[in-house]
Amino acid sequence: MNRVILIKYGELTTKKGNRKLFVDTLYSNILKKLKNLNVNIFKDMSRMYIEYDSLDEVEILKRIGEIFGIHSYMIAYKTESNLDSIKKTISEVLESTFDLTKKYTFKVETKRSDKNFINNSMECNNIFGSHILKNYENLSVNVHSYDILVHVEIRKEYSYIYLNEYKGLGGYPVGVLGHGLLMLSGGIDSPVAGYLALKRGIKLDLVYFEAIPHTSLEARNKVIELAKKLAVYGFNMKLIIVPFTKLQEEIYKNVPGNYSITIMRRMMYRIMEKLTKRFKGLAIINGESVGQVASQTLTSMNVINSVTNLPIIRPVACFDKLEIIDISKKINTYDISILPYEDCCTVFVPKHPIINPNLEHCLEMEKSFDYEALISEIMQNLNIIEITDSKEDEYSDIL
Ligand code: ATP
Ligand code: MG
Repeated sequence: MNRVILIKYGELTTKKGNRKLFVDTLYSNILKKLKNLNVNIFKDMSRMYIEYDSLDEVEILKRIGEIFGIHSYMIAYKTESNLDSIKKTISEVLESTFDLTKKYTFKVETKRSDKNFINNSMECNNIFGSHILKNYENLSVNVHSYDILVHVEIRKEYSYIYLNEYKGLGGYPVGVLGHGLLMLSGGIDSPVAGYLALKRGIKLDLVYFEAIPHTSLEARNKVIELAKKLAVYGFNMKLIIVPFTKLQEEIYKNVPGNYSITIMRRMMYRIMEKLTKRFKGLAIINGESVGQVASQTLTSMNVINSVTNLPIIRPVACFDKLEIIDISKKINTYDISILPYEDCCTVFVPKHPIINPNLEHCLEMEKSFDYEALISEIMQNLNIIEITDSKEDEYSDIL
């Protein structure tokens, strides 16, 4: 039997105008994800088909499950588009999958994209159902409650028979919605925010504000490990490490303690704006969640946000912490995020950060030191690490 992996697209179908871009992007993402495996991938506007080496089947299925833009995928058996070939393949699939000396109920579901096919879907269901009943005395039809669902897809060139579907990740293929910069700290929220932005089709580069020696190299390594987990879904990304120490020290020297976090975050956004322009992004993404800490009240957000006109996307803005934790466990970032290394925000955190800061006060305080010079210096001393999907590393010597 000729096995292929059949891929059904996700939300692409709702975006008729952009369909070609979506399909092409998904195609190139699948190629990237499977690039060191022996596969042939064929695409049309509603399906993709992957021919593969059966030894790689488990690995391919796992990787397909990590790609956004896929509604579902399945191992399908390819055959000629005529009734006899389809019947023969149905028999082979049933016989190789089930112990047909036992009793089962079944249902046949036919989809016919080739509207010129001689029989309609209902007729096909009857024809294939009768074929099964005639050949296997232990199988009986029950369309409401069945043990076996036989899917038949009749397409112009070939037809496909399959039993089980795997649920894909959904969302849009990474890259179709352009490019943004994610503020990635070592916490729980920002990797989840990154995952959700990738799911909306945004290609990411990552920014980490570092304050050595107040923060450790372990803290940086933790962020690198988180970045690698995101690369499973986001492919290659730059991790831009911002040397934040001097600016942060100046803030704590010149700004009253209760305003230090507010001013620090205004500085972060100023730097993010410059980085977004330099790296040709269209938006800033971060893990802020309304009400979680003093800098995330609506008043604080207004005062902090006012330094930039770029869109700031906060995918977890309205999530409960527990909802965020659930996702972080699913994407394997949680165990890394809870490692105890200090972040540049936590090192300097004041006892009583203001929850209703005043913009005029901020502007006044920012006059007390030359932050623009410090930001220019920072922009000349960025450290950039290329992050890749770790599978590429694992296999790099084979390539
Ligand atoms: P997280 O769990 O992601 O660290 P948090 O609850 O600790 O979030 P904050 O520390 O207030 O929240 O930061 C809010 C957001 O600002 C973070 O989710 C992240 O996007 C960004 N951020 C904070 N610190 C840094 C940093 N050192 N480098 C890059 N981004 C940061
Ligand atoms: Mg944090």
